[in-house]
Amino acid sequence: MKLVKLMMTGLMMAAFALTTTPAPVSAAEKGLVGISMPTKSSTRWISDGESMVKEFEAMGYATDLQYGEDDIPNQLAQIENMVTKGAKVLVIASIDGSTLSDILAKAQEAGVKVIAYDRLITKTANVDYYTTFDNFGVGVLQANTLVQGLKERFGSVKPWNVELFGGSPDDTNAFYFYDGAMSVLQPLIDSGDIVIGSGQMGMDKVGTLRWDGAVAQARMDNLLSANYTDKKVHGVLSPYDGLSRGIISSLKGVGYAPGAEMPIVTGQDAEVASVKGMMAGEQYSTIFKDTRELAKVTAKMVDAVMAGKEPEINDTKTYNNEVKVVPAYLLTPYAVLQGDIDKMLVGSGYIKAEDLK
Ligand code: BGC
Repeated sequence: MKLVKLMMTGLMMAAFALTTTPAPVSAAEKGLVGISMPTKSSTRWISDGESMVKEFEAMGYATDLQYGEDDIPNQLAQIENMVTKGAKVLVIASIDGSTLSDILAKAQEAGVKVIAYDRLITKTANVDYYTTFDNFGVGVLQANTLVQGLKERFGSVKPWNVELFGGSPDDTNAFYFYDGAMSVLQPLIDSGDIVIGSGQMGMDKVGTLRWDGAVAQARMDNLLSANYTDKKVHGVLSPYDGLSRGIISSLKGVGYAPGAEMPIVTGQDAEVASVKGMMAGEQYSTIFKDTRELAKVTAKMVDAVMAGKEPEINDTKTYNNEVKVVPAYLLTPYAVLQGDIDKMLVGSGYIKAEDLK
């Protein structure tokens, strides 16, 4: 009887062990890196994740890559799980940068290093470094291409009627993009060259929660029906390709088509769908941020930190997260117009030529 009982307990323990064994991660001698990305709904984050796994594994780390799918509790649970699994480092592109304080306090207690990836993590001291692009510079480039397009396509029309869109108010990047763009546009608004037809300005009025293209499309529908029944809109500042596609659908819905009257619409991320839209004359510009480089810089940074060395940083002033200024490494963004697609996006291998067919 005793033996049967013992055997049963043994079997139960084995079964328990099987069901509670964490998902296997590839064995690697340098330890586990938890990579938490916001969503797969935008192709850039898929590339970011893939590039990082490649870089880290080549350096001898194991990786655990998770996507929060724009659901904050989901991202928090995934990060908590990474800490439980014994991650030594967390690389996080947050959904809402202000929601991570509690989990990062736990990570800190466990001695885990934290890198904010592309998006700043706010309201916590427990973030060690930040790797991103020059986000203010992104906004400047977006507005510069908008103005260039307005001159090109609507040179003989003044004032130019423009509408403004911002990114998600829970992502500090959205404010840097907007401020960068306004540093170019405000003087033209002040001089009367540009008129914001709806009068809607400021991130509180033009922000788009969770960078949602459907939300941008609905807002554009409203802007068009409320302000543009007797005049044309000439340009739309859009901070992200996914929003641009919504805005363009809305414009097409009221009869705008590629050609002399198509408003100038900007974007960001060089997403394949939008690059195709640029080739079709629907979208005027995008911003290329080479996420492969961002992944490389991040992996190098982590490797330095793990070796107890100071990682390379090039900005110690810009990114105040409300508790501290997070030391950052900023990469350069590039503006892309139709004529640059081949050289900059295909030539660099960022997009495959066949994906644009
Ligand atoms: C990124 C942009 C991206 C946006 C929406 C921002 O934080 O910097 O590249 O377009 O999120 O995903």
